[in-house]
Amino acid sequence: MEVTEVAPNTFLINPASDSDFSLGEIVYLIVDTPSVLIEPGSTTTASRLLSRSADLGLNLDGPIYVIPTHIHVDHGGGSGLLAQRLPQARVVLHPRGAPHLAEPARLVESTRLVFGPDFEQTFGPILPVPTGQIHVARDGEVVRLGKRDLTLLFAPGHASHHLAILDSLTQGLFCGEALGIVPADMPDFPLPAAVPPFDLELYLQTIARLARLQPRLLFYSHCGIGRNTGRLIQQVRENTTAFADLVREGLEQGESDQQIWQRLLGHIRHRFPGAEVPAQYQMTLSGYISSFRGKQP
Ligand SMILES: [Zn+2]
Repeated sequence: MEVTEVAPNTFLINPASDSDFSLGEIVYLIVDTPSVLIEPGSTTTASRLLSRSADLGLNLDGPIYVIPTHIHVDHGGGSGLLAQRLPQARVVLHPRGAPHLAEPARLVESTRLVFGPDFEQTFGPILPVPTGQIHVARDGEVVRLGKRDLTLLFAPGHASHHLAILDSLTQGLFCGEALGIVPADMPDFPLPAAVPPFDLELYLQTIARLARLQPRLLFYSHCGIGRNTGRLIQQVRENTTAFADLVREGLEQGESDQQIWQRLLGHIRHRFPGAEVPAQYQMTLSGYISSFRGKQP
């Protein structure tokens, strides 16, 4: 587990070296009063974080906000464990996510559908967050810390319960998967993050909304931070639209999922010949298909 200070009092914690999850999970810690943990990750990640916090020099005791950008297991699945082990923690959640972490039965069910019945072997169980420790976010709400403010913004598309968080001190944006995911070997080529039930239209609207903030740094939840922000946001918009056109064409021609996937791979390899794309990323195709089906009358 590596800890790097990526901006003033803003630490990137990378537990990926210990994880089986091929897209990597990143945790961010803002040290302030109170401190803030953005993306607790899965229960596996959160429990490693707790057991190693002392030797990593991370102080998680005392009042702390825990803010998953959304409740997918690799981003927010560990919120319940943290809340239970850190009684002064408050977990900040989108109103559409809060009920599913208070009572995770449906979240567990959908996680099984996406990651398989044995998902707990990788991610650990999803434990409930005690309702007294949940703070339900409002769009545009400002969370005041000692030295900076965080603005919570609803950022739907990847998931209906997605938040983005703008930091006043660095003008950095914790964007979760709202501005795509950046494959490690394609650092300037963010790809759309689509899993069912993906909403393409909302995803593009969110990209436009977040672009208007003109963030100076992008704190991605997979694969670290981005500095060339204007270019990165433009590229994720282009890739999102290009994928939509390719999937639409494939569907119109009655192609199989595998054939359509080859189209998407072709788009990536046009820019990065021979690029390897994690198997997990193929879920993106199901995401697009779910978005198109959702729009049918
Ligand atoms: Zn997600």
